[in-house]
Amino acid sequence: MNDALVTAVRAHPRLVVLTGAGLSAASGIPTYRDDTGKWRSGDPIQHQEFIQRDERRRRYWARSMSGWRHVHRARPNAAHEALDRLERQGHVRLLVTQNVDRLHQRAGSRRVVDLHGRLDRVQCRGCGAMLRRGALQHELVAANPGFTSVTGARRPDGDADVDDRLVDAFRIPDCRDCGGMLMPDVVFFGGTVPRERVERVRRAVDEADALLVAGSSLVVWSGFRFCRQAVEAGKPLYLVNRGATRADGIATLKVRGDCAPVLQGLARSLAPGARSLDSRTDTGVLRP
Ligand code: NAD
Repeated sequence: MNDALVTAVRAHPRLVVLTGAGLSAASGIPTYRDDTGKWRSGDPIQHQEFIQRDERRRRYWARSMSGWRHVHRARPNAAHEALDRLERQGHVRLLVTQNVDRLHQRAGSRRVVDLHGRLDRVQCRGCGAMLRRGALQHELVAANPGFTSVTGARRPDGDADVDDRLVDAFRIPDCRDCGGMLMPDVVFFGGTVPRERVERVRRAVDEADALLVAGSSLVVWSGFRFCRQAVEAGKPLYLVNRGATRADGIATLKVRGDCAPVLQGLARSLAPGARSLDSRTDTGVLRP
């Protein structure tokens, strides 16, 4: 539990919460950046590459076929559960996640914006048809029977290392309805977040008392812009993160640590009737 954060949220109880890859790290999905903000490794696909270059698209789907199972099997962790509890307590007015894993929804959160989309859906760029990623997995496996999947580590965003020599022969299914190009329903690096999604978050930040960010380096502008918005509007900005973030210099309060215990402590302290317990020390002795 962090006393300063509890006091801050008591004074500013209606929150917009923005989450990043650090929140899902304990669920077994790796982050892109480490605690110093340094890029770990890897070369995530860019939006234009996916659209324009066959070989990059084949590489993406080959790696995704191997990595999908890790995201699909991942379970929400204590940090997701704490945010669900904070929503039920009335504190989370909108939960905005940069993650594409849908773990907030699986933990029970209802008011969620998937800022960068969701990995469990695939859309046809031709006719706009939407299909489940799980259904496409069967098609990928059927089209590539000899493909020996994982040869290396799992990567962020449902990606996994595969032997690059096998990628040339990888076959990608097209849309069954129109033959169009299938693309995950996610915003890749270099892609654009749909305007109405951004506007919904902007309105929520306008109406909230404060913005709380958990588990994000905030290096990506699409999340950082809401920190700027909150600060420019004179609203407090609270950060919970293990490492450095781009907003450290403009935050009202930074709690450096693992988001699961910090958010669990916050939810516990803000629960109805918890105020009297809060005035006890850890040994149960009432503070003067
Ligand atoms: P990031 O990789 O840039 O930063 C992760 C941050 O989380 C780091 O600052 C690190 O110090 C912190 N962190 C790690 N474990 C933590 C923990 N247990 N408690 C508190 N902090 C912890 O992530 P980002 O800022 O979200 O940006 C990366 C982009 O990649 C996002 O746009 C997102 O769409 C995508 N992404 C998504 C997933 C996912 O869906 N789970 C995973 C990786 C990347």
